[in-house]
Amino acid sequence: MINHDLLRSDFNSIDPVKQKEAINYWNDNLLPFPKPISVHFSITSRCGSMCQHCFQWQWPKQTELTYDSICKILFTLKSWGIKSITFGGGDPFLHSDFIKIIKLAKLYGFSISIITNCSIYDKKILKEIATYCDWIRFSIDGPKEIHNAIRNFNFYDNVKKSINYIKYLNSNIITALNFVIQKINFGYINDIFKVQCDLNADFMLLKVVHGEGEYMLTETEWSFIYNWLKSNHSMKQQKHTNINELIYCFDTFYTLHDLARGYPVHTYYFKHNILCFVPMFFLSISSNGNVYPCDYLQYDTRIYSDKQQHYILGNILNDPNVVLETRQKVYTNISHYPAKGFIECGSCTRFCLFNTIATNILRNNNIIKNESEVEQYVFL
Ligand code: SF4
Ligand code: SF4
Repeated sequence: MINHDLLRSDFNSIDPVKQKEAINYWNDNLLPFPKPISVHFSITSRCGSMCQHCFQWQWPKQTELTYDSICKILFTLKSWGIKSITFGGGDPFLHSDFIKIIKLAKLYGFSISIITNCSIYDKKILKEIATYCDWIRFSIDGPKEIHNAIRNFNFYDNVKKSINYIKYLNSNIITALNFVIQKINFGYINDIFKVQCDLNADFMLLKVVHGEGEYMLTETEWSFIYNWLKSNHSMKQQKHTNINELIYCFDTFYTLHDLARGYPVHTYYFKHNILCFVPMFFLSISSNGNVYPCDYLQYDTRIYSDKQQHYILGNILNDPNVVLETRQKVYTNISHYPAKGFIECGSCTRFCLFNTIATNILRNNNIIKNESEVEQYVFL
């Protein structure tokens, strides 16, 4: 099956025609710049949470797109040939028209997935998700008391009830937990399997925190995590986790120093001069219609500042063509746009394998030693 969901794939798993387009563009940039196929769409910045490792809840003005605006955006995305949309936020459940939005997205034929912190338990929304969506991921940061302490609200029980209800309606939908490893929860990492069982989720996906703040781990603490991963790699098959993939990342992409300073792939990207292919496949849309090349350059977990304005490609509501043109313009200046081009690229844990494989194919050398070790689905 062709995978169009760039947020969850490696380069080899996506549409071969798109792969070829991207590689050919680098070889001969007179060719048309490839259109994206996958979008992460934050329909609201309201999140209902006060997380320790994200500052979005402190932003001065919570924004939300109206249903009419979202209709226009979905229409534009369809006309661009987008195949896959991940709805997120904030918490997409808090958008009062979320059910209508899912239905419309389905009508347009997008494959749909959801990322939520589950700040509300809403059976009507869950019913639509069970009917129309491919997968849903819930933020879970540890056992109940730790999760609720990090989020400052009791959302753990909402996640539990929601997964049970979705599974009752549709046992085929894929449910996963996103566990961001950070200062408050890293000592509880041993409990993740219990949490996964308790919540009845198909996958437990561990993610490394990035950014800056008291929630960051030290090098010693990351070393503890690495050793823990190594000693638990056999749990991978039993429990459906991304433990093996994360070990691979530690061994190939991350350094402890980079992890501790919040830019896990910085040295790796520089050392190997990795190029970024992501905007040829992917776009991220914020809750006011601004479009970014990826979610890292959106600064969506950072303290509110003018940084959020730096990498806007345009506003999809105001002028969709400007978005596509700016994207090509920024990208055409290749010497300034390798993956090391922006400081935030050092946080790019989600796309580092994708960019590495693509760069590898382009240069026809062998940076990745053993790609087959990395499974595509549960990567990050
Ligand atoms: S991580 Fe999500 S839920 Fe937490 S503050 Fe940020 S946007 Fe809100
Ligand atoms: S390399 Fe930079 S621009 Fe490319 S996806 Fe990563 S963070 Fe975004």
